[in-house]
Amino acid sequence: MTDQPTPMMAQYLAIRDANPGALLFYRMGDFYEMFFDDAVAAASALDIALTKRGTHEGQPIPMCGVPVHAAESYLLTLIRKGFRVAIAEQMEDPAEARKRGSKSVVARDVVRLVTPGTLTEESLLEARRHNYLAAFARVRDDCALAWVDISTGAFQVMDCPLPRLAPELARLAPREVLAAGHELRDLVDDAGAALTDLHPSAFDSAAGQRRLCALYGVDTLDGFDSFTRAELAAMGAIVDYLDLTQRGRLPLLRPPVRERAGGAMGIDAATRRNLELTQGLSGGREGSLLAAIDRTVTAPGARLLERRIGAPSRDLGLIHARHDAVAMLVEDPRLTADLRERLSRVPDMDRALSRLALDRGGPRDLAAIRAGLVQGAAIAARLPGDAAPVLADAARDLLGHDDLIRLLDDALVAEPPLLARDGGFVATGFDSDLDQTRRLRDEGRGVIAGMQADYAALAGVQSLKIRHNNVLGYFIETTATHAERMMAPPLNATFIHRQTTANQIRFTTVDLSELEARILNARDRALEIERAVFDRLRRAVLDRAAPIAQAARALAEIDLAAGFADIATGEGWTRPTVDDSRAFVIEGGRHPVVERALKRKAESFVANDCALTQGETPAIWLLTGPNMAGKSTFLRQNALIAVLAQAGAFVPARAAHVGLVSQLFSRVGAADDLARGRSTFMVEMVETAAILNQADDRALVILDEIGRGTATWDGLSIAWAVMEHLHGANRCRALFATHYHEMTALSAKLDGVDNATVAVREWEGEVIFLHEVRKGAADRSYGVQVARLAGLPASVVERARAVLDALESGEREGRIGGAVRPAALIDDLPLFRAVPPAPPPARTRDSPLEARMKDIHPDRLSPREALDLIYDLKALT
Ligand code: ADP
Repeated sequence: MTDQPTPMMAQYLAIRDANPGALLFYRMGDFYEMFFDDAVAAASALDIALTKRGTHEGQPIPMCGVPVHAAESYLLTLIRKGFRVAIAEQMEDPAEARKRGSKSVVARDVVRLVTPGTLTEESLLEARRHNYLAAFARVRDDCALAWVDISTGAFQVMDCPLPRLAPELARLAPREVLAAGHELRDLVDDAGAALTDLHPSAFDSAAGQRRLCALYGVDTLDGFDSFTRAELAAMGAIVDYLDLTQRGRLPLLRPPVRERAGGAMGIDAATRRNLELTQGLSGGREGSLLAAIDRTVTAPGARLLERRIGAPSRDLGLIHARHDAVAMLVEDPRLTADLRERLSRVPDMDRALSRLALDRGGPRDLAAIRAGLVQGAAIAARLPGDAAPVLADAARDLLGHDDLIRLLDDALVAEPPLLARDGGFVATGFDSDLDQTRRLRDEGRGVIAGMQADYAALAGVQSLKIRHNNVLGYFIETTATHAERMMAPPLNATFIHRQTTANQIRFTTVDLSELEARILNARDRALEIERAVFDRLRRAVLDRAAPIAQAARALAEIDLAAGFADIATGEGWTRPTVDDSRAFVIEGGRHPVVERALKRKAESFVANDCALTQGETPAIWLLTGPNMAGKSTFLRQNALIAVLAQAGAFVPARAAHVGLVSQLFSRVGAADDLARGRSTFMVEMVETAAILNQADDRALVILDEIGRGTATWDGLSIAWAVMEHLHGANRCRALFATHYHEMTALSAKLDGVDNATVAVREWEGEVIFLHEVRKGAADRSYGVQVARLAGLPASVVERARAVLDALESGEREGRIGGAVRPAALIDDLPLFRAVPPAPPPARTRDSPLEARMKDIHPDRLSPREALDLIYDLKALT
């Protein structure tokens, strides 16, 4: 038996085969249907029912579907789970297909390929984050990275040698990366992006140049910049991919901007993760610097903040100009409050513009442009003539949109509906033809009410009603009890029977049909006029796309400056002095994220000073102090102050003098990093090597407990040598936290190395953390006291004290550091069983090791304590 596919299935298979690698959403009426493996995969990913429909090659065809009106949320789930989705729409009215013959299938085609990097729908995007699509190209030894946010039109490119790729991806956090081949998969995965492997031909630089010229309607790209072949290849691949995924409907891309290497503070991926600049440890915004300091009130402002924090500037002129703007707003709180109030009413013009360009926009996007420009003009008027240059420039970009504002204002109702399809968004008075047609349509509805009264009288049925539904259109309805009379003469001359249901009987009349046709015509005509108006408005907006985008950027800039001013005022931040010295002097510095967390618990943060220069020479601080004293917090707060200062913000300190920082490095000893599940010590060493090889004399380096991932003496030796290298070879500013007290001796030996410690006080055998950073070395580590605070059983704490005493007296006698190791000391210690109170009888046969093991509460141990414990246990064997 031959099992020919049905014509529809044949069409489905053809479309699916033309779009490999994507799940196919196949439009059937009000649903997108999926078949075969797609259906199985989607049903499980979306947790929806899997059914069957017909057979193919003798097997039932698995099927599932999602309603069109709810498709966006399903799409979002699929994209988040790593799928790409091809959307095949019906390209004609089913009636047309029927005209061609009973067997013919409605024409369908893929109108769009939805991928993580090409989203534009509001519901699929995070408002306050960019959604970047990036492409990495290699032409011989030249490499380049291009990236675009099609939801805003920003398009950028940079020269990017392979070793720079990971840090740049960490900065941009793109959703999707285009590359030829799979070699970069691990690297791209690490950046949390999806790799899309394209054929090498997509990266042809000559073709790329042609595509770009065509896109911008120019003969040469020289007017933009002069690009390398790798840059052309990367940008060309993006344009080609957009063409493919958007099916020829190219988004509005601004002319590509080349990013200068060295324009921003160098921050690698490990440092970003460590400092939690834009993402907390959980991967979201939660817990990040960004979340703690974001006071912007518009989504484009929030995205600008993310860009600034991700790439603090190295351009002194720019930094000063931005500080000037914040200073001006800090001094005029009324102006700031006023601006922020107006800004809070500014919608996301960037994204509205992009949807309009892709023809996915609706009346609300037009209204968003209107509202943005109206508020923009008001904001410009509110800024004084002698405003700081950043603000004055922004004000200039907000003016000159009056004609468009007037057009949109005349044309649109106050609160337009989401979709153009249903009409109702063009204001009365804008188009006389439309007004007249609408009157006709609405009057028709009035006439129907009159007709109902006439027919009720004629039939003598008071309860007679004229109703409407989608199947019958308008109809007359009475209860079934009147059926016989209505269908007999003389009434049957007027009332034409249409349908009988269980309780009702339905009729039409010649007059009613005619009236209905007139109403329908008027409705269709009105819709047609509204659609034409929509197109006209859309074109008027797109004609001014560049100045509108400029206005949107100006608003984001003002929002950012006002947000910085707001937090500076609210939290007592100061303007930092940034210059080209190599100073790093902070007075009363604070950690904005920790401070915020403490504030929630009604605790206060202890401000601390830091001075990493002696005269003009960079200095290094060696920080010792017990766990939990606040070492990491202190290290990070200073790095964050440098980031904020160069991002154009005020800083959480009483005073700050920051000599331009070229690169920022932050590393944490591996013991804190257990969760990442790699050979952590190896990772730590690789990352440390990167600093020693790269840090220049303008770098700021913070190292937290480097070397603790290995045995004590190894760790100490490595930390020691790293410190000497930073001091002698890198000659940079650095903060170095360590629990190796032995290292404090270095300060006597190395010029410019100072000891500092986080103070604690011991009171009745307990430690009290003062969180105060002072010059000098910690006298001891208080690990045992901290362990006790953490809830280690009293017997263990007692035992630890005894071991510690023995070790310390051994050290005093010069045995440690010499040939004698802790294991040898065990002989000198009383046996463990002698220390705790007498154990219960059942345990009498426990060895010291077993006894010790029983007292361990793994959940209460920090990684560091666990490591110490292993040494202890080892010593007991
Ligand atoms: P360490 O690195 O020395 O182990 P942390 O920097 O992790 O210590 O700090 C431990 C805790 O101490 C923090 O979570 C915070 O609650 C508190 N802390 C740190 N620094 C301060 C400070 N300057 N003022 C107040 N509390 C602080």
